[in-house]
Amino acid sequence: MKIQVLSKEMASRIAAGEVVERPASVVKELLENSIDAAATEITISIEKSGTSLIRVSDNGEGMAPEDLPLALERHATSKLRSEEDLFRISTLGFRGEALPSIASVSRFEITSRQAAYDSAYRLRVDGGSETAAQMAAAAPGTTIELKDLFYNVPARRKFLKSLPTEFSHICDIVNRLALAYPGIHFRLEHNGKTLIDFVAVRDLRERLSQVLGREVAESLRPFEHRQGVLSVSGYLSLAPTAFPNSRHLMTFVNRRYVRDKILTHAVLHGYETLLMKGQYPAVVLLLDIPFDEVDVNVHPAK
Ligand code: ADP
Ligand code: MG
Repeated sequence: MKIQVLSKEMASRIAAGEVVERPASVVKELLENSIDAAATEITISIEKSGTSLIRVSDNGEGMAPEDLPLALERHATSKLRSEEDLFRISTLGFRGEALPSIASVSRFEITSRQAAYDSAYRLRVDGGSETAAQMAAAAPGTTIELKDLFYNVPARRKFLKSLPTEFSHICDIVNRLALAYPGIHFRLEHNGKTLIDFVAVRDLRERLSQVLGREVAESLRPFEHRQGVLSVSGYLSLAPTAFPNSRHLMTFVNRRYVRDKILTHAVLHGYETLLMKGQYPAVVLLLDIPFDEVDVNVHPAK
């Protein structure tokens, strides 16, 4: 017998590698879940760049106690009901893979309460074994806390870059989601220090000021164009203002941050005669397309 079916635990660790490549991918999945749960306040606490602790706390709709164990089942999601739903995805998540993947490669704890319940419920997963949901005290919303990411996948741990690099990936994730959702209050703490505190604002302009700093934000000009079902809007820098890299060139499709050659090229093409080689503009571009006109499922990382 040469071929063997992997144990459930092994299989989930391997699959986890796709969703959970590094601490920032955990932060991305957890933030997306909080946003899908209609949270208006999200706090992210990190220790050692996410290698020793990642905690995401939100004031979203929470989960009923009977749903808690389901959230940790593979391919269990509240976001798809029928096959047609796959072709008009309006939520950030939909595969039901993130939580089980994350739980399989960390010491994991989830605490959640729906506003209608008097109490929160908590569930732990450690080394593949899961506790039953127990009552706990917490405000409405969800807190997910995980310690010792990749403690049981040494190969993954080895692939991580330096702590500052891993932390800068986390900041990128928070900043991008913050730009896409100005109405949400985002806080990020690292090793006990608050590094980001973006209170909820009315629009992208105010959020830009929080994320890029007032000076850069005030130099940007708004743009907006509609054509058929497409709408493109955002803010852009005017030449000769330029930056040495494309860090400030960010494109979003239906509020999902995407890096796409065609989009980036189109933007840079517009500046071609205005900026020198090696110079980049600051552009935050939001492309909005009806949900049934874009297939987010084609991309493994969405
Ligand atoms: P997906 O987001 O693709 O549905 P996940 O594994 O990320 O899959 O989450 C599984 C389910 O757990 C979600 O569909 C949702 O019902 C629930 N869930 C996860 N995070 C939260 C949260 N922060 N608040 C409320 N519900 C959540
Ligand atoms: Mg999700």
